[in-house]
Amino acid sequence: DPTGEPEGILTRASEKYHPNAKDTDRIDATLLALVRNEEVDDMVSSMIDLERTWNKKFNYPWTFFNDKPFTEEFKKKTSAVTKAKTYYEVIPDEHWDKPTWIDDQIFAESAKVLEENGVQYASMMSYHKMCRWNSGLFYKHPALKDIRYYWRVEPKVHFFCDIEYDVFRYMYDNNKTYGFTINLYDDPKTLPTLWPETVKFLAEHPDYLHENSAMKWLTDDVHRPDHNRQAQGYSTCHFWSNFEVADMEFWRSQAYEDYFNHLDRAGGFFYERWGDAPVHSIALGMLEDANKLHWFRDIGYQHIPFFNCPNSNKCKGCVTGRFTDGEAWLHREDCRPSYFQHVGMN
Ligand code: GDP
Ligand code: MN
Repeated sequence: DPTGEPEGILTRASEKYHPNAKDTDRIDATLLALVRNEEVDDMVSSMIDLERTWNKKFNYPWTFFNDKPFTEEFKKKTSAVTKAKTYYEVIPDEHWDKPTWIDDQIFAESAKVLEENGVQYASMMSYHKMCRWNSGLFYKHPALKDIRYYWRVEPKVHFFCDIEYDVFRYMYDNNKTYGFTINLYDDPKTLPTLWPETVKFLAEHPDYLHENSAMKWLTDDVHRPDHNRQAQGYSTCHFWSNFEVADMEFWRSQAYEDYFNHLDRAGGFFYERWGDAPVHSIALGMLEDANKLHWFRDIGYQHIPFFNCPNSNKCKGCVTGRFTDGEAWLHREDCRPSYFQHVGMN
């Protein structure tokens, strides 16, 4: 049952960490958004939703990142819709620029082939940089040095349900590493060598595989045999990372650092179109204890064209159980059934 009321533990947490929490009740965490100046109005609309349903009770700061300086207009409009602190950070060139070992000619040629095969954004260099930064660099920004947890928010997303407890406190108290709302299959054409590179990495570092990993979920080839989503042994099922609430200690670990560097050197962030969603998901699925992954069933969420819509009277503007209002084929993109079978709903 992908809907339903939050577990008891959430109710208990909400009693303990109730609204009007004092500054000192907050843990080291921030709302985090990579966003362009032109997207300010869509960013504001995401903020209004999250402030109304959650953050006005807790006042976690917002930290905005951009490869260019934020405009005064951006700062003015975003700071006007929250009582919390807002920070505006520029990404250092060494975190954003294409790495030296990536060859322009090979990039252009691979992008052409990918686009001919229908891979969206393949020739858009900034999209590749964005996916790489979200995969292995954002948490190294000096502005996040003393921060442990983040909640990633994109422009133009929606939040539908009142959340009464401190989501970051929940992560901390329950020893969770990563929280998600939606699980999707990816287009195998974006990542043909991601799984082969992962297998190579694991062969070099067998000790990194967690004894209670979610490998069965990553390699599930049963749930959608008709769907042709498998990519060289990876089911392509991933946490949809435009929403993520996570503990940066995981990304800052030696194991993840080694994995990211392996992938970065392999070149697939540019010569293919590896997304940060499959990269994060594979890393979590093999390196982390599966018990530390958490489905936020109670957080009503939409990033076009998909929803997570709980069955709860705390939600408004979201149809219970709805997954998409897009075309029929989009309904088959949901891979939470595979996740629940192999990992469970904890
Ligand atoms: P999609 O969800 O895969 O279609 O990708 P988006 O276009 O939504 O990009 C993901 C996130 O990264 C959004 O929050 C964008 O605002 C942000 N983003 C993407 N490219 C850039 C970029 O070149 N510069 C900045 N500052 N933000 C970007
Ligand atoms: Mn997006």
